[in-house]
Amino acid sequence: MKYIFVTGGVVSSLGKGLAAAALGTLLELRGLRIVFQKFDPYLNVDPGTMNPFEHGEVYVLNDGAETDLDLGHYERFTNCILSRHHNMTSGKVYESVILKERRGDYLGKTVQVIPHVTDEIKRRIREVSDEGKADVIITEIGGTTGDIEGLPFLEAIRQFILEAGPQNVVNMHVTLVPYIRAAGELKTKPTQQSVAKLREIGLQPQVLMCRTEFPLDLETRQKLSMFCNVSPRAVIEARDVQNTIYEVPLMLQAEGVDELVCELLNLQTPAPDLTNWRKFVDRIISPKKQVKIAVVGKYIDLQDAYKSIYESLTHAAASQDCGIDLKLIDAERLQDGVDGQLKDVAGVLIPGGFGERGVEGKIKAARFAREQKLPFLGLCLGMQVATIEFARNVCGLERANSTEFDQNAEDPVICLLNEQREIRNKGASMRLGTWPTKISQGTLAEKIYGSSEVLERHRHRYEFNMKYRERMGEKGFLVSGTSPDGALAELIELRDHPYFLACQYHPEFQSKPNKPHPLFKGFIQACLAHQS
Ligand code: GLN
Repeated sequence: MKYIFVTGGVVSSLGKGLAAAALGTLLELRGLRIVFQKFDPYLNVDPGTMNPFEHGEVYVLNDGAETDLDLGHYERFTNCILSRHHNMTSGKVYESVILKERRGDYLGKTVQVIPHVTDEIKRRIREVSDEGKADVIITEIGGTTGDIEGLPFLEAIRQFILEAGPQNVVNMHVTLVPYIRAAGELKTKPTQQSVAKLREIGLQPQVLMCRTEFPLDLETRQKLSMFCNVSPRAVIEARDVQNTIYEVPLMLQAEGVDELVCELLNLQTPAPDLTNWRKFVDRIISPKKQVKIAVVGKYIDLQDAYKSIYESLTHAAASQDCGIDLKLIDAERLQDGVDGQLKDVAGVLIPGGFGERGVEGKIKAARFAREQKLPFLGLCLGMQVATIEFARNVCGLERANSTEFDQNAEDPVICLLNEQREIRNKGASMRLGTWPTKISQGTLAEKIYGSSEVLERHRHRYEFNMKYRERMGEKGFLVSGTSPDGALAELIELRDHPYFLACQYHPEFQSKPNKPHPLFKGFIQACLAHQS
């Protein structure tokens, strides 16, 4: 088993997750089996209870783990399928150490960061390597070198390298090489200091991935190599990509990072075949046409809050040789009417979300899409608002609502799942992870999926209230997919509309560059048809 540890230096938001994912792409295309692990030094047990404004999207895995959005990059950039073992926070580590202490596992001992916390971290790295599903584990450590809370992870890695043997490990440090305009120079000092900090802890990086706006000249490369004690070849230029994040693997391959890593780990592999990847990137960079799509949400100011949705749209559009012109609309701004804001778009997408803010605006957007026969894709909360809209405006149930927003709603068309009623703790208590959906024959959904049963990932508490199924069905609101026992509505569509589909689950967690998700692909096709 070989290990790559990815640390970050100087500042956060350097795209460590992307760098790790892109390296994974290259190694996988060299024929290696890759798996990822992400350590997040914060004290939350998982990011499930964090506000997207704080943390970006919560990415959900097959087994229902609520994880950091970097796991989304990992799954999209490679074929790996991750589980709760692949994302770990300080909160989770301390939780298990304290549980063990209470159980008496350390009886008689003083429980300390070293060795007890570091042992727990190492145990979790071994747990993933013992699964035996990979040749290489790429482990990313969140945060920035020098953070107090990250120290136990770095110390654990230092110990781990001693145990696994340095020939089996590569440390890759992602760092910033800033350009100082007034001096007209790239500066290496922040990187030198960050590496010095790592070495203080006992970690020497073998690869320096340098984030930079400008090319690294020879002199800068030599300086970085000399002061940071890495070979000149291992100073990798990671420039800001021009068009799309999917260029990163191509750029890193041109810098030879995959070859270098394989050499360092003594892995004999052929050069990666990037033909398909390159074609995909070309389709994104020079599309033959454009399509304008509105995303009506609550967190549109934050690029990361709907990450997987934007990526899924990109994958689907690329498959149709088309570029996406995204119109991001704050749902609160539609509260008093859509006012021409949706006039120029070819489709409307309403993402998931929690809480009441912006809901009335989303309902207005859904109404506009229904009435104007605009293609519509609703995801999770997006399905729930489409349901409320239809109940109110077509079925005449004026006071229809979700009990999430009005506990005493006269017509609770969306309400709590029975098993959710008793739950008091908020953490990891939703309906989570992959569940099967049975699709009804002759529906649009069946045509789009080309299948009568699908597996999709969930993250929600509330559900369509089946008591309204018949009444709404008569007016053209069809529940076209349900849980296998028929009890839970998973997919809805409108009879008299070219493409009005919404699902209770999150298809955006399963779309890949060369394998767009059917619901997104169908949506883009419908948008193209609408605009022509
Ligand atoms: N708030 C809704 C629920 O809990 C929708 C959740 C979501 O969109 N992820 O059911």
